[in-house]
Amino acid sequence: MAILNIRREGDPVLRQVARPVPKVTRRIKKLIKDMGETMYHANGIGLAAPQVGVGERVIVVDAGDGLYALVNPRLEKEEGREVDVEGCLSLPGVLGYVERAARVVVSGLDEDGRPRRLEAEGLLARVFQHEIDHLDGVLFTDKATMVWKEADEKIHGEAGAPGSPYGPDQEEQGCVSSSWEPPGSRCRA
Ligand SMILES: [Zn+2]
Repeated sequence: MAILNIRREGDPVLRQVARPVPKVTRRIKKLIKDMGETMYHANGIGLAAPQVGVGERVIVVDAGDGLYALVNPRLEKEEGREVDVEGCLSLPGVLGYVERAARVVVSGLDEDGRPRRLEAEGLLARVFQHEIDHLDGVLFTDKATMVWKEADEKIHGEAGAPGSPYGPDQEEQGCVSSSWEPPGSRCRA
């Protein structure tokens, strides 16, 4: 079991475009396993490889209905729009409203290298989009219409405003990922 170090905003790896994975090797399987353990340890509902310092296109997601691991994930289809609150394990204590597709079809390879095609809606669809953004160096604050700090709930400006006063870590109630979360849920990915 390996809990990996989660990179924080400011680490350049979070702003790089991750490389496609040519083959699901033993090393990639180990990475997926460690990413899953790291995500659960941090009470997250999704994690992308750049968040643990690996610039490769691998994500893990568990929005309450089991763990999905996808290598080279792609959004094949997007339908509808929905605004909800997001957080990110790489930006502790920061929350924001982000508009995303309400329903998506995602394709990629699973942990055994087999092609997978998944339909998702609601929170699961949101987490897939959030994680795939990480693979392209995009953070949710880049897309958010409003960003605030969980600690004091004070709104401090528009998305991606420079010099946003991201504060020290806040111990917060983690997302338990046991059910579909209602709008306004504070789940970090
Ligand atoms: Zn994130």
